[in-house]
Amino acid sequence: MIPSSLEYKRASSIDEALSMVDSGAKILAGGHSLIPALKLRLDAPDTVVDISKISELRYIKDNGDHIAIGAASTHHDIMSSSAIQSKCAMMSQTAAVIGDVQVRNMGTIGGSIAHADPAADWPASLLAADAVIEMRSSNGTRSVGAGDFFQGLYMTALEEGEIITEIRVPVVEGASSAYAKFMQPASRFAIVGCAVMLTRSGDSITKASVAFTGVSDKAFRDAAVEAALNSVSDIDTASKAAAEGVDILGDHFASEDYRKHLAKVYAKRAILAALG
Ligand code: FAD
Repeated sequence: MIPSSLEYKRASSIDEALSMVDSGAKILAGGHSLIPALKLRLDAPDTVVDISKISELRYIKDNGDHIAIGAASTHHDIMSSSAIQSKCAMMSQTAAVIGDVQVRNMGTIGGSIAHADPAADWPASLLAADAVIEMRSSNGTRSVGAGDFFQGLYMTALEEGEIITEIRVPVVEGASSAYAKFMQPASRFAIVGCAVMLTRSGDSITKASVAFTGVSDKAFRDAAVEAALNSVSDIDTASKAAAEGVDILGDHFASEDYRKHLAKVYAKRAILAALG
């Protein structure tokens, strides 16, 4: 499978990339979703603009109340960041289970969330973390919460001419978090992935954020599990509430019933892991 002929350009700044995007170029980051799509001729842009070498898009900064991640940071960059390991374990655990070493070294967080594959891992963690996604176009900059960003199967709030520039992950003092995933054994995409962030006081759970990927056409926060999780004694009841009333995906990897069952199992695993 060979992509149709196209022109390859490399941008060295966000402004340069934006002017190429305004002229119709398609953004290329790690290429681990776009290149397969081009090979399958699902897309056939005349020009691609490579943003992977733009240094102002590749950083991880601990800003105290939040961690700022440049959109061209690779999964490996995030997995190996000590700030993320110590302040948001769920994010480094998510990065560590994406694909294989090559995917983690090339694939970027910005490319993953722009693509919005229903089985991608980042959407669950970004929803559970209440992350904010910043986008820039030649008209300016805007920010959208993860809850509004992921809109459906391969659909996001990203508009024509916009580049995702930064993902901001709030740092919640005293919170603990975890990501648990049942992966497709060949691709390693999530059949079910569950991200959990908890704040507790003794045995009481004062705030629970629980999000799933892989289960439905888009990642989602599971309000029923969150509402049921008020104490460490609620873990069984809360995890049994997972993925009820949700339109569940069924495919040749996992039927709807099996995915629903896995959602409950992985909710429990992620909650237990977050509680340590
Ligand atoms: P690209 O492929 O370069 O781009 C993807 C799309 O996003 C394109 O439409 C592009 O125009 C757009 N885009 C890229 N960057 C930006 C930006 N900053 N702003 C706006 N639009 C942008 N993912 C998982 O979550 N879990 C897995 O287990 C997993 N396993 C994989 C296994 C294999 C074998 C492969 C090939 C991929 C796998 N992936 C998995 C996907 C991987 O994480 C990709 O890296 C990711 O989905 C896309 O990121 P990218 O940087 O490669 O983006």
